[in-house]
Amino acid sequence: MTIQVDISMNELQQLDKQHFLHPSSSIKQQQEHGPAFIFTEGNGIYLKDISGKKVIDGLSSLWNVNIGHGRKEMGQAAFDQMSKLAYSSCFATFSHEPAILLAAKLAELTPGDLNATFFTSGGSESNDTAIKLVRHYWILKNQPQKKKIISRTKSYHGLTIGATSATGIKVFRDFTQSLAPDFYYADHFSPESLRELIEVEGPDTIAAFISEPVQGTGGVLIAPDGYFQEIRKICDEYHILFISDEVITGFGRTGKYFGIEHYGVIPDMMTVAKGITSGYAPLGGVILSQKIHHEFIELSTETLFHGYTYSGHPVSCAVALKNIEILEREKLVENARVMGEELLKGFQWLQKEHEIVGEVRGLGLMAAIELVQDKATHTRFAKPLAPTIATELMKRGLNCRAVVLEGADTLVFAPPFIITPKVVNRMIEILHDTLSIVESSSHSG
Ligand code: PMP
Repeated sequence: MTIQVDISMNELQQLDKQHFLHPSSSIKQQQEHGPAFIFTEGNGIYLKDISGKKVIDGLSSLWNVNIGHGRKEMGQAAFDQMSKLAYSSCFATFSHEPAILLAAKLAELTPGDLNATFFTSGGSESNDTAIKLVRHYWILKNQPQKKKIISRTKSYHGLTIGATSATGIKVFRDFTQSLAPDFYYADHFSPESLRELIEVEGPDTIAAFISEPVQGTGGVLIAPDGYFQEIRKICDEYHILFISDEVITGFGRTGKYFGIEHYGVIPDMMTVAKGITSGYAPLGGVILSQKIHHEFIELSTETLFHGYTYSGHPVSCAVALKNIEILEREKLVENARVMGEELLKGFQWLQKEHEIVGEVRGLGLMAAIELVQDKATHTRFAKPLAPTIATELMKRGLNCRAVVLEGADTLVFAPPFIITPKVVNRMIEILHDTLSIVESSSHSG
């Protein structure tokens, strides 16, 4: 029996206001206006809302729907697994086929000797897990004082207590103020800043350095040439583990399977989520190098007192395996690389055409446009323009993200990997029209 829900947009908005506390939202704005979009369908690169409006999902929703919306075979994989074994635990000596096969597949896909996976339900849990595992690792190595974690300014690692503590963007930490101890932040573009911090704090007190290969929430910030090679050297020199947070960059977003592969260095641990299932089911993981895994095997004498009910959820793992099969079969990582170049060319054209477009940048299908009042001096607008432009883009059928944190005024894009040259052109057209209108209205007053 199917239950028909016949409910108007207005009624849904009222229920939303009364009963739904949205993540990352303005509570006041929600109470005044209700949700602006109630999405009902996704198909390929498009999202449709309850009023019938169709938009290009230029951010793959939350940088995650990489294979595009509405894939029936993903639904079938979930259905098959749910019908066969919807859930069983992976605690202690229990295991199941989807988690085993996915862990083996990840060992094959990841670079270097990254080889063994601990599963979680998402990115924040993955980073919390990595933080706990590196600290436990140093306890096993008889160096329990090595517990400090260094991350980068402008970084984002999630919003559980540990992940928030590691997040360099200050507003997220200020939200609760009381966080986890032993977290420090090095300048996001300077290896020297990391070295200085290590020297000041003392190398024998530092457990790990964590970094996104491309900083996403910070506004698609791409590190200067040589940054990661230098970081890897510094970590080795001071015996500090290097964790690559691949929650956004993992599974092809930058045009390679993992973002850190652009820099030819191998991390000791990698955290993943989002793109592992393209958002079709919640899943994350921490992938350990063979070396670290073996040391755990050698030194560990008791239970690993860490694990979640949904560590290795069978349905999520089955969905992840299908997602990776689709990425490989349709060569979508290669398409992300090629289409990323097209998108960046389009942005470079917009930069020439528009006074308010400052720097443009991208790596694969992670791209950004900086808004400036004066191109020559890189002066920003007193009040950021990105939120207004993002709203205008949405009206014209393009979803993106406005980043205004830490003084940024940036539009960020991360479309699904199935994007075609035609849709790239359509995105540029919408941007061109919108920027022209905003420019003429800002000139006239
Ligand atoms: N790390 C990075 C780099 C992220 O971008 C995010 C989410 N945007 C997270 C961690 C947290 O992931 P989640 O929201 O799944 O907990």
